[in-house]
Amino acid sequence: MDTRVPQLSSAPLIDPFARAISYLRVSVTDRCDFRCVYCMSENMTFLPKADLLTLEELDRLCSRFVAMGVQKLRITGGEPLVRKGILTFFRAMSRHLDSGALQELTLTTNGSQLRKHAAELAECGVRRINVSLDTLDDAKFADITRWGRLAQVLDGITAAKEAGLRVKINAVALKGFNEDEQFSLTDWCAREGHDLTWIEVMPMGDLGNENRLDQYWALSDLRARYAQRFTVTDLPERTGGPARYVRLEETGQKIGFITPLTHNFCESCNRVRLTCTGELYMCLGQEDMADLRAPLRSGPDDAALEQAIRNAIARKPKGHDFDYSRQSVSGQMSRHMSHTGG
Ligand code: SAM
Ligand code: SF4
Repeated sequence: MDTRVPQLSSAPLIDPFARAISYLRVSVTDRCDFRCVYCMSENMTFLPKADLLTLEELDRLCSRFVAMGVQKLRITGGEPLVRKGILTFFRAMSRHLDSGALQELTLTTNGSQLRKHAAELAECGVRRINVSLDTLDDAKFADITRWGRLAQVLDGITAAKEAGLRVKINAVALKGFNEDEQFSLTDWCAREGHDLTWIEVMPMGDLGNENRLDQYWALSDLRARYAQRFTVTDLPERTGGPARYVRLEETGQKIGFITPLTHNFCESCNRVRLTCTGELYMCLGQEDMADLRAPLRSGPDDAALEQAIRNAIARKPKGHDFDYSRQSVSGQMSRHMSHTGG
């Protein structure tokens, strides 16, 4: 793999609404060892391997973004840790941490492979990771992930802690599923020293058997329930994304709420998403995307690639179209989260 640090480009990536693009989320595979009901259907057809960017191509593309001012890289999927050789890619990206061009290299994972990879991730400069975990009940975990085993994930989280990684738990808030675990999950995170963020379920993909409106549990309701038990203080912290944070004063815990269905974060959006086939989505909630694989494969010179990235950023829309307010799912996206990488 290329070990050169790319030349810093003169112009940073600024979109038409004067937002600097400093955060790239990269899906490195559409495959996964789980089949979470809100994310995938049971019988998924995955992409042919030839469609996927190779690890070398991912390196070249991410390095180009870093050269153009991206400071935070989040690796996701599908399940990023099931991609063969993915630690080679993390190792390669760590050179941008060493050079100071990249400030954070991180990943979102279901945790199943952490026992195997946590120590090496830490060696590659990863400091914090997000682990998705919706329930602490064995049977419910098996139900929601279809193929997952809770014990394996909890062991993976332990391995991450042992390797010195900070863990943030992401839980999708699902009505009638984990409503009764709001406090037990919160208490467990407090005991284990993990931050916790709740995610509102999003209308992604046509999964057939699940009714998104039935599962929808408004995070304002979770917040109100916290307020009955704790003193809840809003924190000013903003990440340029849909997360808002509060502190539970009695425990000192920081709790996040990701409400992608609201529009109130778009004005500060600093991120774009790359799929494992090299499509760049400028907004999670819009269909528009730019193909970066063709310019990438057109030759070894990065000029065409850089121009394609700039053209794409020039099309970044002001905001997205999700809306549950009329009790019908409008703005529904046909692609799955595992495609754009959550
Ligand atoms: N496999 C990894 C994992 O589960 O963390 C990374 C990819 S997964 C697509 C990223 C995040 O998207 C997970 O936290 C998952 O819970 C979330 N997610 C998937 N489908 C979703 C949906 N329909 N609504 C809200 N969040 C969703
Ligand atoms: Fe896999 Fe993550 Fe989707 Fe679950 S949410 S099926 S773990 S990609």
